[in-house]
Amino acid sequence: MLSHHEQLIEKSKKYLWLPFTQMKDYEKDPLIIESGEGVKLKDTEGKLYYDGFSSVWLNVHGHRKKELDEAIRVQLEKIAHSTLLGMTNVPATELAERLVNLTPPGLDRVFYSDSGATSVEIALKMAFQYWRNIGETKKQKFVTMNNGYHGDTVGAVSVGDIDVFHKVYKPLMFNSYKTPYPYTYRHPSNQAEVCRDECLNELETLLKERHEEIAALIVEPMMQGAGGMIKMPKGFLSGVSKLCKAYDVLLITDEVATGFGRTGELFACNHEGVVPDIMTAGKGLTGGYLPIAITMTSERIYEAFYDDYTKLKAFFHGHSYTGNQLGCAVALANLDLFESEKIVENVQQKSKVIQETLTKFHELNHVGDIRQIGFMTGIELVKNKQTKEPFQWEERMGYQVSLKMRELGMLTRPLGDVIVFMPPLASTTEELQEMMSIMYEAIYTTTERDRS
Ligand SMILES: *Cc1c(COP(=O)(O)O)cnc(C)c1O
Repeated sequence: MLSHHEQLIEKSKKYLWLPFTQMKDYEKDPLIIESGEGVKLKDTEGKLYYDGFSSVWLNVHGHRKKELDEAIRVQLEKIAHSTLLGMTNVPATELAERLVNLTPPGLDRVFYSDSGATSVEIALKMAFQYWRNIGETKKQKFVTMNNGYHGDTVGAVSVGDIDVFHKVYKPLMFNSYKTPYPYTYRHPSNQAEVCRDECLNELETLLKERHEEIAALIVEPMMQGAGGMIKMPKGFLSGVSKLCKAYDVLLITDEVATGFGRTGELFACNHEGVVPDIMTAGKGLTGGYLPIAITMTSERIYEAFYDDYTKLKAFFHGHSYTGNQLGCAVALANLDLFESEKIVENVQQKSKVIQETLTKFHELNHVGDIRQIGFMTGIELVKNKQTKEPFQWEERMGYQVSLKMRELGMLTRPLGDVIVFMPPLASTTEELQEMMSIMYEAIYTTTERDRS
């Protein structure tokens, strides 16, 4: 007789197809989460793991947070879902006001959707149609950063640039202009300012030449996430923003990963006082509870769509679950907790703890670069620290290290050979320290001890 756990494993292998997963890997090392509490997850065998990646960059206050659970229960007593097409609901309306007040001034309108990718699709279509609606029909192209990531729907993939994920879909994509992203560690100068200025110059050349056909530029502010946790040099984001303004190109900042406190500011744009024309966010918005995402924009863009119906300027876009009440209710409770539990301050203070502890990691023989902003960290492993030569990709060193971490009691997913550390924003110093010891141990054993 199979135990309940074993039955579930069998079913998962037989019926499921998991995202971003080679199912052959899953079959070798299956895992089913049964419950969660605070910053820990429990599997169907009762083994506990630190949620070292916030369940893929979402979780803020830990799991089963009393106030968030309660907000959903209270909303459930009223209604679970009704549509936002042509009407609205109570929490979606309240949340919109809160968001307009919290986001950089000038972002005055909220358009809801249900995932980061859809919030990006909306941003792209909104920017494209904005120029049409005001009669600038030549502005149709997008600029995106090398190595950028904006989600997995076809539009979002078209402004993405991660070869492993995106190359195969090339024939499906619309063309966008790529501009270099400042990856200091891999820049010949290894100097942030030199790398930054070179990238800004290249962008300026492109915009000077092509701005008449460019609708918008999209960028992940301060830290490129899925591309490998690559942190921008100071002054790059504000430089990009200035160039966009100078050449009349809309700036879309994709805050899906960086938004809601992750980088130590409520939004990553705040680090450099940048106000985009369009901003997307998702992930942390509901504290990691439910799928709500937002695309916010200025009154100027909104007004270009506002007219008599027969002018056909309306934004013909929406999703079945747009503005879902349960999601908006939990987002409101999440924002309350940001205030009452001083989450952004917590990230600012504790990120210093992370930074200090991580300096020790430099003594490891295969840690090439450590990039951190707030609670968003990437550790790039290399075969040779001096030459920065990477490991053979077939070795899957990042993946091996993550499997080791799992054995030692922490879950996270690497990005190639970049180890990701993105704990829930409410993690305590003690929890952070324990998670980082697991990380240290896993990197050491996998890259050094067991290989020599
Ligand atoms: C995760 C992510 C997305 C996609 O969000 P989903 O909710 O997974 O569709 C888009 N942009 C960035 C920067 C992200 O990190």
